[in-house]
Parts: sequence; C-alpha cells; structure tokens
Amino acid sequence: MSFSQPIRLVPHGLRNGSAVDRRKVNYLRISITDRCNERCLYCMPEKYAGWVPRDELLSYEEILAIVKVGVSLGFRHFRVTGGEPLVRPGVVGFVERLIGLPGVETVSLSTNGTRLPELAEGLWKAGLRRVNVSLDALDPQRYREITRGDIDPVLEGIELCRKLGFSSLKINTVLLRNRNEEEIWPLAKFAASRGLVIRFIELMPVTRSDMLAEENFFSVEEAKRSLEKYDRLEPVNLKLGLGPAKYFRLARLGGIVGFIGAISDSRFCDGCNKMRLTADGKLRPCLGDHAEWDLKPCVRPALDRVRLKECWEAALAAKPLAHSFREGYQPGRVMTAIGG
Ligand code: SAM
Ligand code: SF4
Repeated sequence: MSFSQPIRLVPHGLRNGSAVDRRKVNYLRISITDRCNERCLYCMPEKYAGWVPRDELLSYEEILAIVKVGVSLGFRHFRVTGGEPLVRPGVVGFVERLIGLPGVETVSLSTNGTRLPELAEGLWKAGLRRVNVSLDALDPQRYREITRGDIDPVLEGIELCRKLGFSSLKINTVLLRNRNEEEIWPLAKFAASRGLVIRFIELMPVTRSDMLAEENFFSVEEAKRSLEKYDRLEPVNLKLGLGPAKYFRLARLGGIVGFIGAISDSRFCDGCNKMRLTADGKLRPCLGDHAEWDLKPCVRPALDRVRLKECWEAALAAKPLAHSFREGYQPGRVMTAIGG
C-alpha cells in the first residue's frame, strides 16, 4: 500500500454516493489542535512542519458555538481529539464546558496518554468519564521506535485513570507489520489484567508518511490469529462506545478485545454515525473522503447561526455511504490536521 498504490485487500463491498441514508449520524469527533508531542510513524512525519497557524485554529468559544448547532441537529456524542488534545492549553476547562452544554450526552477523549499524569485528575473533576489511550507497544524501546516518545508517563497515566475510576478506559493499538506484531499478546494480557478493553486498529491511509505502505499493513484477521495462538476468542455481542469495533472475549484471560478493520471489513461503514470537526474549522463527514465544509466563516468574525446551520445540514446530507480507502484515496494532509 502506498499513496500511489492504494490497498485492495477485499473486493469493494460498498460504493460512495450522496447519502440519504439509514444511519443515524449523531457523533462528532472534535480536533482541538493539530499539534502533538509524539511522532507516531503512521500518523505524523518526524520532520513535519505544516502546522496550522495558531490564529487559524478555532477558539474554544467557536467550537462550542458549532457544537450547539450540532446538538440542535441531533448530535449527542462528542469526542475530544487531535493531534494530541492534552497539549492545548485550557483543555480541561473546555472539556468541562462541553460536558455542561444542554443536549450533550457523552463526552470522551482520545489521547496518547503522555500528559495524563498531570491532567487526569483535573479532567475527572471536570466530569470526564471516558478516555481512550493509544498504546502501540509495551516494550519501551518498541514504543519509542513507533511513537518517538517515552512510555513511562503513558503507563503512569493509565494507572491514574484506573484509580480515579473512569467508567470507560480503553487502549487503542494500531497494527504495524514487523513493528508491533510481537506486542499483540503482551498488550492483550496487560489490558485484561487491569480490566481494560483493548482495540486493535488496522493501518489506514490517512496521512502522508512512508509508513503507509502495503508491506506495513497487518490485518485484524492476522491479529486475531496471533492471539488465538495463546487463547480462544469468543465473539461477544457488546456495544462498547459508539464506534465500529467488533468485540471478542479471551476465554482463558477473560479480557475483552476489539478489532477495528477499516480496510479489510467491507461492511465497516454500514453503521457509521460520526463526522469530524478539524482544528481549523472544517466539518468533514468522512475520514476517508476529502469533502469538507468550512465553518470558520460562520463563526468568525461573528457568529452567524443561520449560515452555520445551513453548512451543518449540507455536510450531513453529503455524508458518503462509505470511505474511499479502497478506491484510490490519496490523503490530502496529515491525520493530525484532520483529527483522529
Ligand atoms: N493523539 C491522540 C492519540 O494518539 O490517541 C489522539 C489523536 S490520534 C490521531 C487518534 C487515533 O488515530 C489514535 O488511536 C491513533 O492511533 C489513530 N491513528 C493515527 N494514524 C492512524 C493511521 N494511519 N491508521 C490508523 N489509525 C491511526
Ligand atoms: Fe500524535 Fe496521536 Fe498522531 Fe501519535 S497518533 S502522532 S500521539 S496525534
């Protein structure tokens, strides 16, 4: 797989089309920054320098105005993400305000975990109860090779979240051939022994990086087989959270593992309920489709609610039935600029 040679692992199950569709789209992932303190191989090129100028990022006030209109259109669930959301100053206060907005039912956070030791307690006090932490390896050296970061604060942050009692604390692991195959079972054991759910995620062509090549792709089916060397996987009919993961119980260990097969599962998009708001104010109906609606002119220099609602409605109406990852999709910008 590369940007010029898109992956074709399965026959096309679905095609894009403008969507008057049966899915209930009520979940918005909000990127509050494109900055990050790590450089994961699959996400951000090490020498990346294409930052959105700070004054082009939406302010928290502007994001909340956009969320309010989303709520009026039926959006109920929100995830704060990035880049690394915990590097943006004021994130705790923002989370508290988001949780407090009428009509907002769930707020969750995706983080690399590095700043949880400092911020988890404040987030808990702000009312946050749902956190996903990225953890691609347990071996510190492997962790560093993949993220260019230090694993210690991440493990410390996970422990702190457990102690605080977050009701949903999940681990996310991106599968990379020859990088973390050996880590799959140790990570599953790590999660099971702490009562945490872990999800294994297929590499997606969502960024400009040499890593996004077919030889680095490791499917969720292969990950399942690698776990089955040690334990039996029993399908469980669990709906944990709002995403597309399929869940299994490790019969002996008792832990729950989820698989997110965005590339190999041809029905992956069937139940998609989400849209994304980029850090620079673009409403994006689908991660794997370039269409975006620029909301910044609706909130800056002054809030224009009518125009904002029109843009929201146009984006919603145009949500494609499926991503284009199997159809020659070429990422236009890095994942951190879109929001994970
Ligand atoms: N910095 C936070 C983190 O790492 O969790 C939040 C943003 S990150 C972009 C959100 C999620 O996207 C992470 O779980 C990350 O592993 C995943 N991700 C990033 N690039 C990816 C890729 N090329 N394929 C699949 N998942 C990817
Ligand atoms: Fe940063 Fe998260 Fe991307 Fe890694 S996956 S570079 S931690 S934004």
